[in-house]
Amino acid sequence: MKIHEYQAKELFSIYGIPVEKHALCHTADGALAAYHRMGIPRVVIKAQALVGGRGKAGGIKSALNAEEVYRNTKTILTMTMKGLPITKVLLSEAVNIASEYYLGFVVDRNTHAVVLIISDTGGMDIEEVARNTPEKIVRFKIDPAIGIPDYLARRFAFLYFNRIELAGPMSTIIQSLYKLFVENDASLAEINPLVLTTEGHLVAVDAKITFDDNALYRQPKIHTLFEPTIDEKAEALAKEKGFVYIRMDGEIGCIVNGAGLAMATMDMIKLYGAAPANFLDIGGSSNPAKVVEAMKMLLNDKQVKVVLINIFGGITRCDDVAMGLLEAFEKVNINIPTIVRLTGTNEQRGRELLRTSNRFRVAETMKEAVLWAVQTLKRESI
Ligand code: GDP
Ligand code: MN
Repeated sequence: MKIHEYQAKELFSIYGIPVEKHALCHTADGALAAYHRMGIPRVVIKAQALVGGRGKAGGIKSALNAEEVYRNTKTILTMTMKGLPITKVLLSEAVNIASEYYLGFVVDRNTHAVVLIISDTGGMDIEEVARNTPEKIVRFKIDPAIGIPDYLARRFAFLYFNRIELAGPMSTIIQSLYKLFVENDASLAEINPLVLTTEGHLVAVDAKITFDDNALYRQPKIHTLFEPTIDEKAEALAKEKGFVYIRMDGEIGCIVNGAGLAMATMDMIKLYGAAPANFLDIGGSSNPAKVVEAMKMLLNDKQVKVVLINIFGGITRCDDVAMGLLEAFEKVNINIPTIVRLTGTNEQRGRELLRTSNRFRVAETMKEAVLWAVQTLKRESI
């Protein structure tokens, strides 16, 4: 789960990591009011979007007077980033940058540990630095039993600062960010840039935190920060119903039981030249209620042009599954071509039952089913 910069900065403040003065605004008028309230002449207006690289995408603009605040906020609030509309901006006090550092913690699968990443080449080009001059980025594996004691924090701080006036605050920031990371089950916590101002202060100008979804059950406070996108809302709803549903860009909606079969179905769709609209695992049993719910979910996705149901009837026999499908299709009104492939125990009987309805086309093999789905899609889109 990702959170916005303004939310991450609230957490930073709780943990004592210095951030600049800021206010969250939803409208240009709101930004104007906040600007007057803050009484700081130079500000930066920042799109609140759960994507990186906002600066390069034009989502960060400075303003020197009320008129610019209004105009730039208006501009940012009409932008979209990665297809999502920007609905909030952060109005922040502009800081005078002397240098930009990078500080982050991430769960690293290769070393099976939390890794500290630190560099004095922070800022918007950190990806390029990582690619071209990786030696400028220091990585250090943290032993979970030891954490980051003072001596270790200072060792990193002294890499970049030779005076205790700065190395002191830097090591405190390193320790605080690590504490925040561990206590809140984050998988990534990043300050880029961590700015040294011309006045000699360290300030977290940006804040990015990602949390481990599997730990959210024990992080109720963090969970309340969740601001789902439309896709994520659908996914969360599916989870409540016992499905695993992930939306994708294609046009063939899939209803499959079992994650492995669902993956194989998606692969086959790709192989035959189309793209799946989703991954949907309705779980081991394939009772009618679940099929109805799954169908409703697919019908909510306007991209879905063809539905492909691929069910393996093992414990639940195919004739029962077929009865379920017939019952399910009585309940939902759809006019999207639907192809069904059933395999497993009593599959013959299951297919016979399905053929009594003209609601679906019944395929015998997976290949046939996928081919039909792809061909139907191509016909539909002419
Ligand atoms: P990102 O592009 O999404 O990572 O957004 P950031 O919050 O990191 O901002 C991008 C860049 O804008 C930073 O690396 C800074 O160089 C610049 N920036 C952000 N806030 C300020 C500010 O208050 N003063 C100045 N001078 N530059 C800023
Ligand atoms: Mn940044």
